[in-house]
Amino acid sequence: MTGLLPIGDALDAVLAEVRTLPTERVPLLEALGRAAGEDVVAAERVPSFDNSAMDGYALRGEELAGGRRTFRVVVEIPAGHHVDTPVGAGEAAKIMTGAPLPPGVDTVVPVELTTQAGDELTVREPVAPGANVRRAGEDVAPGDVVLPRGARVGPAETGLLASVGVTDLEVTRRPRVAILATGSELVAQGEPVGPGQIRDSNSFTAFGQVLEAGAEPVALGIARDDLDETRRLIAAALEHDVVLTSGGVSVGEFDFVKQVQEELGVERRFWGVKTKPGKPLAFGVRGQTLVFGVPGNPVAAMVSFELYIRPALLALQGRVDLYRPYVTAAAAEPVRGTKERVEARRCRLEHRDGGWVFTTTGPQGSGILRSMALADGLVFIPARHPGAAAGESFVVMLLDGRSRERPPYPA
Ligand code: AMP
Ligand code: MG
Repeated sequence: MTGLLPIGDALDAVLAEVRTLPTERVPLLEALGRAAGEDVVAAERVPSFDNSAMDGYALRGEELAGGRRTFRVVVEIPAGHHVDTPVGAGEAAKIMTGAPLPPGVDTVVPVELTTQAGDELTVREPVAPGANVRRAGEDVAPGDVVLPRGARVGPAETGLLASVGVTDLEVTRRPRVAILATGSELVAQGEPVGPGQIRDSNSFTAFGQVLEAGAEPVALGIARDDLDETRRLIAAALEHDVVLTSGGVSVGEFDFVKQVQEELGVERRFWGVKTKPGKPLAFGVRGQTLVFGVPGNPVAAMVSFELYIRPALLALQGRVDLYRPYVTAAAAEPVRGTKERVEARRCRLEHRDGGWVFTTTGPQGSGILRSMALADGLVFIPARHPGAAAGESFVVMLLDGRSRERPPYPA
């Protein structure tokens, strides 16, 4: 395997093949977790009328500024009510949070700053003219883009859309991702495990990762290391937007995945990235289908997904925030050196003395899935790093969250 690609170059090669999927119209709540397929423009303003931000008294601010401290309370306005009669000079309206301001007044004095006896109000502490009023349109004006194309629809976005009366919207279609585990040693969930056999875990990690990336996982099961079976299942997988096979992509005698991909017309874009774990990653395309063959070791498979497949799935949805957030963190312990590849070690993060500190999560073998389960992030140790004492800083990519900014992967 010559010419291993640096992480950034491999990611560029993947993203170069992505075409955004078409959109479909869905009800507001079904849009949760999906990507806006259009700019959603508000037709209404929010708030739709001037209203009180406090429980208190609405009156003329200029009278407070002029020194007046006593007013006659002429009306009471609970939220949801509406008063047309103007409030005049020397008068005040008792008003609740969210209630519309009556005509004639522009300022609300919070109830805590007043005393009321009968209908006589005394303002003990004046407020500035215009205080405590939420102006019509101060949150959203008609014509504002309340949700830009490519944004993820989350709880705040659905609330904002609901507040302007949006009931349905265009979102991009979820990418359909075929998940196929390969290996004659693999046993499906619930089946007895014979000598030399192991349980399939990659189908489960991949399912979760695909789902969390807003895509639709389609688990196709296990292909034994048999040419015909591998061919049959990869052919079925190629009917999806994305193919995600694990295992069988290395240099073993029974590693048939690359051969079968080629036979079925997959054009290889690269095989091999300069990372540990995850070196023998194969990526190609057939038509619009993106075809990923990740190595079988469970951590290698998950790390490959995080680095290349997750951004691709988000890009297929037209998302603008393709990456994980990252921080710079100091090593809590001495750092072992590396050889020819960038190492992505699993680590925990802690905030200490004003900065982030990372600790690796125990044994880092590419099959030790617990190192992933315990991790907050992946710390990148550059290739041919000589090793370092505790305290040296490295880039840590978080394994949660989202960002528009690509982490600075070492070359
Ligand atoms: P491979 O890439 O096929 O050479 O597999 C590398 C290692 O990962 C071997 O030890 C496999 O047994 C293991 N492995 C492959 N596929 C899976 C899977 N679906 N679940 C758990 N371990 C796997
Ligand atoms: Mg195998």
